[in-house]
Amino acid sequence: MNLVAGVIFAAVLLSGALDLYLERRQAQVVAAHRERVPAAFAAEVGIEEHKRAADYTLARTRLAMGESLFDTALAVIWLALLLAPVYAAIAHPVPPGLSRSVALAIAVGAISYFLHLPFALVRTFRLEARFGFNRTTPMLFVFDQLKGMALQLALAVPLLYGFFALRRWLPGYWWILAWGGLMAVIVAAIVVYPAFIAPLFNKFTPMPDGPMKISIEALLRKCGFESKGLFVIDASKRSAHGNAYFSGFGKAKRIVFFDTLLDKHAGDEILSVLAHELGHYKFGHVYLRIVETAILAWLAFIVLHWAFATDTLPRAFALPDEPGLVLIIVWIALGPVSHLISPLMNHLSQRAEFQADDFAKSLVGGEAMIAALTRLTRDNLATLTPDWLYAAFNYSHPPVPERIAHLRE
Ligand SMILES: [Zn+2]
Repeated sequence: MNLVAGVIFAAVLLSGALDLYLERRQAQVVAAHRERVPAAFAAEVGIEEHKRAADYTLARTRLAMGESLFDTALAVIWLALLLAPVYAAIAHPVPPGLSRSVALAIAVGAISYFLHLPFALVRTFRLEARFGFNRTTPMLFVFDQLKGMALQLALAVPLLYGFFALRRWLPGYWWILAWGGLMAVIVAAIVVYPAFIAPLFNKFTPMPDGPMKISIEALLRKCGFESKGLFVIDASKRSAHGNAYFSGFGKAKRIVFFDTLLDKHAGDEILSVLAHELGHYKFGHVYLRIVETAILAWLAFIVLHWAFATDTLPRAFALPDEPGLVLIIVWIALGPVSHLISPLMNHLSQRAEFQADDFAKSLVGGEAMIAALTRLTRDNLATLTPDWLYAAFNYSHPPVPERIAHLRE
């Protein structure tokens, strides 16, 4: 076997094995702690509730193991078997050029998407339904998928044409322009998301007047936070999981509450969730996230620049030197790399969560935040006893026991 192909196959297989190992650890640790509520939560969380959270986590972890196996097998199958016939099927009707490269990338994306659908179906209608979270109807599911697909196509087709055109017309420094273009699109997406994209999926209603809104506005004034308003979304039409977020930049920022959060939480808990979100804003976490993305995208474009300058990758897999194929091979090969750096990315994200918690504590006090976190954990059946290594690779938020211990410091 060609050395480059061997290295990529080995990386994909090792990354899949690492995933399975971590998921097995998570399952073992959660199962081992299933029979006893951790001492710090013994007052709030009952044993039946704790067992149910363990069962939910175990069911999710088992599904994730199936998905890891499937993803790893699929990556190998793409490289070893499937790219050649898909290329042949597209090269026959589509002449060489930009359209062929774009068609190839879209075809591989679409096939992967459909092969993944069964997992989404099982997750929504079996797993989430079994634990009483799912409220998505089959009709809503189909519409969500269609809207998601249309949106992805509308974004991907022009981006891919731009990408391949730049590469062809400016062979020397195309990648710097492509990187700049991609970052501009990402920033634009963050700007238009709240007003144009999110409303495609949810109904945004201005928060009704009342004591809750008055205390929220008082809190916003206290922090000098300006925004385009407070909204409630009908998250309950899909799922019973509760949350809140804010999105957008500058004055176009919106604060969005899930109706499921407002329904279940006490007033001071809702304020503490908001205060946490304001902490993210105060510390400029959105900008930090954009800088991280810019650095990672820069590194990915350096790899792409190298990959397009030679025919090493397609030759390694006995494929024709076609830019569309090169892009797909790089995409698959970078999967294990992003898996390896995920603990670093999660560490940065978890640190930001602790900062936002500190901010919330300074604003509304630690007890309200602890109460809100405890309720969110109970309502979402999140495990109180995750495996630390699994969490390092998979949790963008610190495990709740750690967040509460931090708030109590
Ligand atoms: Zn947060």
